[in-house]
Amino acid sequence: MTHLTLSDFERDALPTLTQYASIPCLSPAFDAAWSENGYIDQAMELLANWVREREFNDVEIEIHRIEGRTPLMTVTIGATNPGEGTCVLYGHMDKQPPLGDWSEGLAPYQPVRRGDRLYARGVADDGYSTFAAILALEAMEREGIGHSRCVVLIEASEESGSPDLDAYLDLLKAQLGRVELMICLDSGALTYDRLWVTTSLRGVINIELTVSVLEYGQHSGSASGVIPSSFRILRQLLERVEDSSTGDILIPELYGEIPEYVKDSAEEVAREFGDVLARELPALEGLKLMGSSAADRIVRRTWHPTLSVVGMAGIPDPSIAGNVLRPFTSAVLSFRVPPNIDANKAGQAVIKALTENVPSNARVEASFLTGEGWVAPELAPWLAAALDQGSIEAFGRKPGFTGEGGSIPFLGELAKRYPEVQFVATGVLGPQSNAHAIDEMLDLPTAVGVTNAVVTILTAHAQSKES
Ligand SMILES: [Zn+2]
Repeated sequence: MTHLTLSDFERDALPTLTQYASIPCLSPAFDAAWSENGYIDQAMELLANWVREREFNDVEIEIHRIEGRTPLMTVTIGATNPGEGTCVLYGHMDKQPPLGDWSEGLAPYQPVRRGDRLYARGVADDGYSTFAAILALEAMEREGIGHSRCVVLIEASEESGSPDLDAYLDLLKAQLGRVELMICLDSGALTYDRLWVTTSLRGVINIELTVSVLEYGQHSGSASGVIPSSFRILRQLLERVEDSSTGDILIPELYGEIPEYVKDSAEEVAREFGDVLARELPALEGLKLMGSSAADRIVRRTWHPTLSVVGMAGIPDPSIAGNVLRPFTSAVLSFRVPPNIDANKAGQAVIKALTENVPSNARVEASFLTGEGWVAPELAPWLAAALDQGSIEAFGRKPGFTGEGGSIPFLGELAKRYPEVQFVATGVLGPQSNAHAIDEMLDLPTAVGVTNAVVTILTAHAQSKES
């Protein structure tokens, strides 16, 4: 049964979603002056005002503000079904920066609709989430479908690693009450033809590493051969953590045991969809991919440790590069780590490898930040059935289950806080949705499908309390 159609979404959500898309409400990590700039507040007010126009029997809309932190919105909707317990629906409204020049006719803050797709920064990651959560609940009340008490929680620091979320979870502990189901609307999808449920997320370790050799730069003709190059020492240090010929990580603490079901489900996905990663990633023609097969690539992307060097400093742009032996080289190392390891412990092991017995006794500074990975807890039978039913009703097909290669650090934190809670992580970030990249896009029918599936899941939760 369809509770919401695309034209409902176009009428009820699209105008405000489009306005939201034009606001550069960057996450604090990308806008140090976010508070003075006021874009996050502006976008949060816009969303809250939109929620205020929706129709509920019993609703409380609050924007919470802890001094020095980004605001957080809760929409608390009273139960229409007997029974205690809370369902939390999570999303975020802060955005990644534009990244670079967008394609012809597209721009990060000038939303454009092409066919059934809306292009702008933040529409899919994760602006749609407020609309999906609220419209699902509004449809239930309109149709007289019972639901438990629900709290829609929209935060504004996710793209910075959710540094503000913990403080709000402390603040809202009593308000959230006994949480029984957590629906996270910020995850990925392999295709747009079904509901995708995330079974795991990798953790992340970010390390800022600086190797210094001189007080200040020197003519390379006078210093080279005597002063060791900071870049060469950086290479040696990187060789300790990553095999440069294979890309394999060399620190044992960054490996976890890969469960059999992960390999089986990767085989299954590969059988149905073929080499989905080879197809979807914009690799240059002729590039030899890592991994031995389609299934192996799926496992590698979701359960293997990897290193990406995501930033460098101390090296001039080629157009102004003089013959100088430079005083230092900095690199930002981004490790993705398996869902089931202790990312903090792993980060300490990497720091140890990078900073002990440094070649030539060069000066090394290293600091790190981590986000824990997450493995979905086993689904309760009522929830497994609801996911099946929700996907079939909304998309005409059974749901897909897969791990994600990215990280949503707070899910690990939430799982620790609420160990008994049932989790559903799903989302609209499918092929060409380009979260974090140029040309971000929301596939509108998928947003509608996810919203309908949320109705089925919340219905099943309420009914599971009756039996
Ligand atoms: Zn997100």
